[in-house]
Amino acid sequence: MTERQYLVGVDIGGTKIEAVLLDSSHAVVASHRVPARRGGDNVVADVVGLVREVAGERLGDVARVGMGTPGRVDSATGRIANVVNLDIDTLDLGPLVSERLGGVPVHVDNDVNAAAVGAARVLCGDDTAGTVVFLNFGTGLAAGVLVDGVLQHGYSGAAGEVGHVPVDPNRFDCPCGQQGCLETVCSGASVARLWPTADGRPPMPDLIGKARSGDADARRVLAMVTHAIGDTLQIVAQSVDPRLIIIGGGMAKTGAPLLEVILDELHGRETSCPFLKGLELGARLRLVPADAPLGAIGAAYAA
Ligand SMILES: [Zn+2]
Repeated sequence: MTERQYLVGVDIGGTKIEAVLLDSSHAVVASHRVPARRGGDNVVADVVGLVREVAGERLGDVARVGMGTPGRVDSATGRIANVVNLDIDTLDLGPLVSERLGGVPVHVDNDVNAAAVGAARVLCGDDTAGTVVFLNFGTGLAAGVLVDGVLQHGYSGAAGEVGHVPVDPNRFDCPCGQQGCLETVCSGASVARLWPTADGRPPMPDLIGKARSGDADARRVLAMVTHAIGDTLQIVAQSVDPRLIIIGGGMAKTGAPLLEVILDELHGRETSCPFLKGLELGARLRLVPADAPLGAIGAAYAA
């Protein structure tokens, strides 16, 4: 074995931090997760601890460490800012982690971008040719765009921020200051607001199930949500004409029923629009595989 052939990826979330160790064939050979603790000092300590845990005796053979994190990320410096869930105002995450690990090169990217890389790798393997869009229907709504396997950050790092395109006809107020952002209707958090469920059950499967059984309120809310998803898909698809559109984020755990209601929405639009029908967007849709540590895998690849 040659020196420094392992990669470590770390997915920093609001509730947990997860790390994976990839070997030279890019297989996951170790993984570990811990509950997230708030505050910059804790986050740095937990990331360093996780890297040591998954690398074990191979720490000296780790070529690079990649991290994906919510908030604003400056990939050039490794500085992160405004990570509200973890009480971080600003933090030099990259430099601090590198220093504590003896100077190993580190890379910091945002969590949606990392998940996009991970999802594309898991679904496409090494066949990364063309444009792939990852849509994260999580707490927020954002896209990660890959061209030939390379993340597109854009001029200011805002590439893929489709969630704050203000086109939804319901005109709900968005925390960003606009009204009608797509994120106010079809993010996971928005569906939970529009369709509250008891016992912490996920809202989307419940919403789809009730709508299918004829519940008028559920049908109305589901129509709002799928309309916003349809707009989101058309905006990204007609902007960059991707080969694949990968549906991810917490909402993707709904599984096949989510794909079915999205396809119903697209088919409805296609009946009146030969142009849209010709794009065959439905055939380009994929759901992320359930329970794979996509964010951590992607962070390792993005490093
Ligand atoms: Zn907004």
